Amino acid sequence: AKASPGETICYYQAGMDEDARHRRQIANELRHALARDEFRLLYQPQRSLRTHQISGYEALLRWKHPRLGHISPMEFIPIAEQTGEILRIGEWVLRAACREAASWTSQDKVAVNLSPVQLLQPDLPEMVTSILLETGLAPRRLELEITETALITEKARALHSLRRIKALGVSVAMDDFGTGYSSLDTLHSFPFDKIKIDKSFLLQSGESPQAQAIIRAVLALGRSLGIPVLAEGVETLDQLKLLVDEGCDEAQGYLFGRPSPMQAEPAEQAALRA
Ligand code: C2E
Ligand code: CA
Ligand code: CA
Ligand code: CA
Repeated sequence: AKASPGETICYYQAGMDEDARHRRQIANELRHALARDEFRLLYQPQRSLRTHQISGYEALLRWKHPRLGHISPMEFIPIAEQTGEILRIGEWVLRAACREAASWTSQDKVAVNLSPVQLLQPDLPEMVTSILLETGLAPRRLELEITETALITEKARALHSLRRIKALGVSVAMDDFGTGYSSLDTLHSFPFDKIKIDKSFLLQSGESPQAQAIIRAVLALGRSLGIPVLAEGVETLDQLKLLVDEGCDEAQGYLFGRPSPMQAEPAEQAALRA
């Protein structure tokens, strides 16, 4: 049977409603997730390509809902940003990451993702200060990963906040570099300690000379600005070779370790370090 144009539109709208209902459900369940203790942090190692040591771990948020199962941060973070729930969730993440890192046997850094919504809160520097005091984590062991979004829409406020955070001794990495808008202008205006090249470039580098050229260009940019560059999403030895040949400073990806739980330092990672 052939569908009339009217029917097609009907299906399309049913799909939209379904999607909107699903998002509303996620938004609702998110409001209870903290109280129900449904969040966990996993940690993925970041490795120096110069010293071959682990330099830190990125904390990655996981949500397991009792009925809906695992929901990806790529799905729920944008919804939490829309509802404002990201403020409570983000504070939980920062506190949990600092508390856990303070209990590691190593002095490795912990890198925490910060939503642009959090960066624009005027009291963010105070929150970071009190969490550091409360958990006893040395400020130099904390790195905040931020994307450009907040820096573009509210440049003055974001810059003010970043400067106060850096004054605490906390470092700041620019996340997802290459995927935003005016990356070059942002790099010029903000005191970043690290540039993270988004994994999309490395994942395409096998087939795409253009992706390789972009990786080289970002590495050259980092060198000339004196900012270390970390490449995300390293899965293969070929990709690692490209990075080493081009003088990349640090790397992170499945080749070195998947995001995994870490209450205390796992023996496996302690062995890798040796
Ligand atoms: P991101 O900050 O760019 O994090 C890197 C993502 O790449 C993570 O996905 C990580 O698991 C994945 N990944 C790591 N190595 C590889 C690899 O070798 N290959 C591939 N294909 N992927 C790799 P994940 O954990 O699903 O997180 C997705 C995004 O959700 C993050 O992207 C970040 O933007 C956001 N996110 C995660 N946790 C938090 C959080 O605590 N707060 C905020 N605001 N955002 C978070
Ligand atoms: Ca990140
Ligand atoms: Ca991201
Ligand atoms: Ca990324």
